[in-house]
Amino acid sequence: MRARIAPELLRKHLEQIIDADNAAGKWGQLSPAECTSGQTPGTPRVHTRFPPEPNGYLHIGHAKSICLNYGLAEQFGGKFNLRFDDTNPSKEEQEYVDAIKEDVAWLGGAYEGKFGGGIFWASDYFAQMYAWAEELVTKGLAYVCDLNAEQMSQMRGDLKTPARSPHRERSPQESLDLLRRMKAGEFPDGAKTLRAKIDLASPNFVLRDPVMYRIVHAPHHNTGDAWCIYPMYDWAHCLEDSIEGITHSICTLEFRNNRPLYDWFIDAINQGRTADGSGKYATLVHHPQQIEFAKLKLTYTVMSKRFLLQIVKDGRVSGWDDPRMPTLRGMRRRGYTATSIRQLCKDVGVTTQDSVIDVGRLENCLRDELNKSAPRRMAVLRPLKLRIVNWGEGGAADRVEMMNAINNPEDQSAGTRPVAFTGELFIERDDFMENPPKKFFRLAPGAEVRLRYGYWVRCVDVVKDAAGNVTEVLCTYDPQTRGGDDPPPGPDGTVRKVKGTIHWVSATRNAKAEVRVFDRLFSAETPGERTGSFFDDLNPNSLEVLRDAVLEESLAQAKHGERFQFERLGYFCVDQDSRPGAVVFNRSVTLKDTWAKESAKDAGKPGAPAPQGSQPGAKK
Ligand code: ATP
Ligand code: MG
Repeated sequence: MRARIAPELLRKHLEQIIDADNAAGKWGQLSPAECTSGQTPGTPRVHTRFPPEPNGYLHIGHAKSICLNYGLAEQFGGKFNLRFDDTNPSKEEQEYVDAIKEDVAWLGGAYEGKFGGGIFWASDYFAQMYAWAEELVTKGLAYVCDLNAEQMSQMRGDLKTPARSPHRERSPQESLDLLRRMKAGEFPDGAKTLRAKIDLASPNFVLRDPVMYRIVHAPHHNTGDAWCIYPMYDWAHCLEDSIEGITHSICTLEFRNNRPLYDWFIDAINQGRTADGSGKYATLVHHPQQIEFAKLKLTYTVMSKRFLLQIVKDGRVSGWDDPRMPTLRGMRRRGYTATSIRQLCKDVGVTTQDSVIDVGRLENCLRDELNKSAPRRMAVLRPLKLRIVNWGEGGAADRVEMMNAINNPEDQSAGTRPVAFTGELFIERDDFMENPPKKFFRLAPGAEVRLRYGYWVRCVDVVKDAAGNVTEVLCTYDPQTRGGDDPPPGPDGTVRKVKGTIHWVSATRNAKAEVRVFDRLFSAETPGERTGSFFDDLNPNSLEVLRDAVLEESLAQAKHGERFQFERLGYFCVDQDSRPGAVVFNRSVTLKDTWAKESAKDAGKPGAPAPQGSQPGAKK
């Protein structure tokens, strides 16, 4: 078993490595010609990259890698490349390529902006990679093997037994001839491979003569029919970094065992080379330094691209950009900002130890940001009619009073807005109970509440349908409470109090909307743990579409992407499906972490949710 790695903050560790490298002049300095995107000539070279395979959309895990790699380039005045690791001859997935470019830029990974190094394609290096492969064969460091995949796996040995490879002693001349014939298309798929000649007895199985090239007769989206042999990931990846002059090749922990292999490949190429090119094989190639860090893992979240693709294909979600998906697309549509995602990546730091982060921390990053920036509005998601029976007493029964509502208590400069108050209103169905339990401080027969920014109202009666459901709540209002203010003390000095404040929307002056309320995609903290299948833990109630929601009038004009806090309900943003007159809102996040409260309740701990009646919406 591997020794436990100290949970040091790798970011700091990385910074120290880079500082030390820079002090020692390890990677040289940027020449004026290299300073193409905001760098200063003479700055020690720091070059990072984000190397996605274009076979899916980016998710929140990738965000961590982008933030780390771009962040270091920015911090040290270096360069950051976006490189598509397209060594697999799969059909062209232009859709993924386009989405990745856009998502990286959205998140702030400025591959073409300041400190950007540009966009690169691994497939552009196929010819160079092949030339180096021939060189390794010539040096006796690689050979063509006739075993097929099944035979190779049968001969791979175990910890006590070395692997076997009957063609290992083939002469370089014979291997070179076979490699060229492989490349020329003489052999069928899988008939031969090119293998590195390293160590069949190595306890690190990655070093047991790994395959460098395989035969695949398939066209490639970039190189077309030019190749029928394709480089394996391990051979390709370290060469891509070398070719681009990547200094710090940052990858996730599972590649720790591959590091000796990458080092071996580069050293093998450099065998017989010299700095000035006076050796047999030209000049030395660049040897990047690999550094590993722990993947970002979140509770209630699955990041496997295969699984995400499956639920998209199966129609379990509406697409890669479904707001419940952990993809950057989905999160953006749900209302996540790039800043909140970057904040999470910063908060969790970079470690060398695998750990699972509470998804609540991600949600908190968004709440913290939107609490400061999102304008407040009132919206009723599940409307129940409230009629003020004495509204006629203070003037015409159809009169409209404009109330003054604060736009953002966290931001004085956001000012106030007028909201229409009328004799018929909508309140949240949940805010009324005919037979309330104790401590239900909202509306109930005989009870009085404050309508935020409106008036105090007391429930005097209800109207029911044939089935006995309450369809209307009848109230009286107190004209002395305009704006929701406390009434003056009574003649005997008594002060009237209300415990509850609820929100409302005029029944005659409003905007209708569809509101999509999301919950977590998985109901288990560690999806798949119970049965071994992620599917078994999909939350069947992760989406609720509320088609009868009513909002403050002004929201009829809300634009795609705009974000608001709906008082007492959470943060919401306008979805791309919105049309003039038919606004669609997504709930980005609730106001409080309801899941944390639920688990506290389960555990019977203090901090369990207060009974429904206690008011989150404070006094005004
Ligand atoms: P696959 O193994 O299916 O290719 P992947 O998530 O590794 O999936 P890549 O496109 O290879 O997909 O990932 C691009 C980069 O993102 C890699 O450098 C990888 O290390 C990094 N990365 C992927 N997942 C995470 C994660 N959860 N946390 C941090 N970095 C990640
Ligand atoms: Mg990968």
